[in-house]
Amino acid sequence: MTGTLARPDAATPGMTSDPAQGGSGADWASDPRFDSVIHRRKTRSVRVGAMAIGSEHPVVVQSMINEDTLDIEGATAGIRRLHEAGCEIVRLTVPSLAHAKAVAEIRKRLEDTYQPVPLVADVHHNGMKIALEVAHHVDKVRINPGLFVFDKPDPNRSSFSEAELAQIADRIVDTFEPLVSLLKSQDKALRIGVNHGSLAERMLFTYGDTPLGMVESALEFIRICDRLDFHNIVVSMKASRAPVMLAAYRLMAHRMDLEGFHYPLHLGVTEAGDGDYGRIKSTAGIATLLADGLGDTIRVSLTEAPEKEIPVCYSILQALGLRKTMVEYVACPSCGRTLFNLEEVLHQVRDATAHLTGLDIAVMGCIVNGPGEMADADYGYVGKTPGTISLYRGRDEIRRVPEAEGVAALIALIKEDGRWVDPGSLTV
Ligand code: SF4
Repeated sequence: MTGTLARPDAATPGMTSDPAQGGSGADWASDPRFDSVIHRRKTRSVRVGAMAIGSEHPVVVQSMINEDTLDIEGATAGIRRLHEAGCEIVRLTVPSLAHAKAVAEIRKRLEDTYQPVPLVADVHHNGMKIALEVAHHVDKVRINPGLFVFDKPDPNRSSFSEAELAQIADRIVDTFEPLVSLLKSQDKALRIGVNHGSLAERMLFTYGDTPLGMVESALEFIRICDRLDFHNIVVSMKASRAPVMLAAYRLMAHRMDLEGFHYPLHLGVTEAGDGDYGRIKSTAGIATLLADGLGDTIRVSLTEAPEKEIPVCYSILQALGLRKTMVEYVACPSCGRTLFNLEEVLHQVRDATAHLTGLDIAVMGCIVNGPGEMADADYGYVGKTPGTISLYRGRDEIRRVPEAEGVAALIALIKEDGRWVDPGSLTV
């Protein structure tokens, strides 16, 4: 074989089994890092109303209304708007007992006028009584370990004694156990939602303002749940800086796996802002972890109407091949070889076919690179000669038509294949 190039192993394209060329094929094939399919970390299933979160289920999309929960009419409408936009679990804030009681009415109105929506209640500073009330009205309660038992930070403090730490740990157990018991008896879920910006003072003294401090904050609460044999838990490690949340989630998953806690992760970058950068920052954090196999539910936090978060979530999941909720368009960026107005044609094709969820459709500017780079799309619209395009089914060229008839011919081809659905016949 010296002086010749070994042919890649036919069973595993692109791989050589020749050790002289960089290692054994078996290693390559069995290493998930080199697989084109994401392997999700195994997590247990946690039910939240009609939804289930965990590695056996699609990654769930969540958001949060921004209406005041005391505004029952507004909050009900906000939840419905989010749910209709595709949000699968909706969170609302519950800062007082009055808010907790309002949730009962919101839930009832949803059931009477719309449909049940999986609801999560966010409780914060010393929220034990609030949590115990609202747990009756929602499917999941979210607590922040840094705030659930909250003492105002003392600017004069320089350390915590062992006795002080033990006393706080006891208070947490006493405060938290009733909630865990109630959630367990009602078969409801809990999110242990750590935020980088609100770690407890003793955690900051012990671990600093670090991903480790975030992880230890969550583990303290997880262990209490474990002692009470309660496992309907989802964990989050949000931070406003993507590198911090990446480190915290990765460490959290590692530590949970070491301790045998296979709880799902809820991913998010907090305070990501708005516009393009808010979306890119959220994607940088969320997609990076999802690509590593971490994360079972996501929220993109934007400083915009909450419904605007939902398409971003689904786009992230679709781009990674984790969920398919829209047509996948493959389109080249165009170049000097482009034979038609690619941007305009892509819009026309999208307008005509965007309802055909499940299909992959390519629009490519020329036949030089187009057919080879359509990434196995179901259908291709490819520039052939000036004024003529070719239509492809998979890798096969099916017909050539004048450019002016291209979009209609594409629709006709999809219809011939029995894969067309009239937009009006779709039920949402
Ligand atoms: S597919 Fe053709 S037109 Fe499109 S970018 Fe590649 S070479 Fe250019």
